[in-house]
Amino acid sequence: MREVLTNPTAGYYMNRDVFGQTGDFITSPEISQMFGELIAVWLINEWTKCGRPTPFQITELGPGRGTLMADILRVFSKFKIAGSDFSVSLVEVSPYLGQVQEKQLCPSQAQEATEVPQGSQHYKQSISLYGSQVRWYNHIPELPRTFTLFLAHEFFDALPIHKLVKVDQGWREVLIDLNREDLTLRYVISRDRTPACLYRLDNESREELEVSPQSLIITQAMAARIHQDGGIALVIDYGHEGDKTDTFRGFKNHKLHDPLVDPGTADLTADVDFAALKWAATHPRGFEDWKANLTYGTVDQKDFLTRVGINLRLEQLLASCRDEDVARDLKSAHKMLTDPMEMGSKFKFLALYPSVMEKILERYPPPGFV
Ligand code: SAH
Repeated sequence: MREVLTNPTAGYYMNRDVFGQTGDFITSPEISQMFGELIAVWLINEWTKCGRPTPFQITELGPGRGTLMADILRVFSKFKIAGSDFSVSLVEVSPYLGQVQEKQLCPSQAQEATEVPQGSQHYKQSISLYGSQVRWYNHIPELPRTFTLFLAHEFFDALPIHKLVKVDQGWREVLIDLNREDLTLRYVISRDRTPACLYRLDNESREELEVSPQSLIITQAMAARIHQDGGIALVIDYGHEGDKTDTFRGFKNHKLHDPLVDPGTADLTADVDFAALKWAATHPRGFEDWKANLTYGTVDQKDFLTRVGINLRLEQLLASCRDEDVARDLKSAHKMLTDPMEMGSKFKFLALYPSVMEKILERYPPPGFV
């Protein structure tokens, strides 16, 4: 999965724009500006609850086309949160998508990416339309040590999973093998235990499941920063609470695609196990010295967006809209984002806070989650 999606030369994400009508899938920030605007207001509210610490960074994992961040920066500038108060840190593996993000967020010719000073942790830098520093990183531990608002939208579902099945002898891993006769790919069950079978399976009642060690490590890295430097994380994705079994699949041209056919031409994805992410956010690795963070959610996208005011925002936009086609698009975007039959219940929101916020959050719980 890792090779197919992020191999430096042939990886699915590495050299093309895969989003939108002409791509393979469409995501909420691409459907409507309302999505990013509401998230921006939520972030400002929660940052205010923390005492508006500056300087801070907004960090997005896997920003895609940069649309969500562009909507957020526009709202931050409306709320007069100045470019000098914060910087933008993007964790992105794809050089191609990095360029798309740069065009989206730093559109001025004069602000083209400047050369990165030697010894820097980031691999690219520029200045946003509103004057804040934008830097690109490969991994979370490279980010500046400062208060951080983390965002991950449809990021964790792209990280590799291992498929495990229970057989008579115990847990085994489903591997991918080559058919000798026609050189097609096929699934096989490992003869013995593999390292993935060491995952926490003691009280597991499922007969089959998917585990994503990379998702756990990334969540622990994020949780460590939140505990040590202060910050909040908002994770949004399709997923479950540790009860689903077999969700690995491919998407091509908005249709399901067999992951073993023409690998590298289709998106590969698996539902996010939010129960596992919550475990990782509250359990440091053995050599780390942070304590448990607080987790909120998951809640369904329709509940989060409704509670933070998507209906009001739709009304506002419709009131100032003179074009019937635009008004129709706004209404259909609202339906797509919130209808339980579309993205409303499939997508979930999870928030992480440092444990020092416990008393404040008891009095002022995170909007959207209650
Ligand atoms: N958040 C965007 C894009 C989602 S697609 C949206 O919702 O529209 C997944 C994104 O994660 C892409 O930008 C992809 O290049 C990036 N990505 C995938 N694996 C990654 C990894 N291991 N490290 C950093 N970025 C990764």
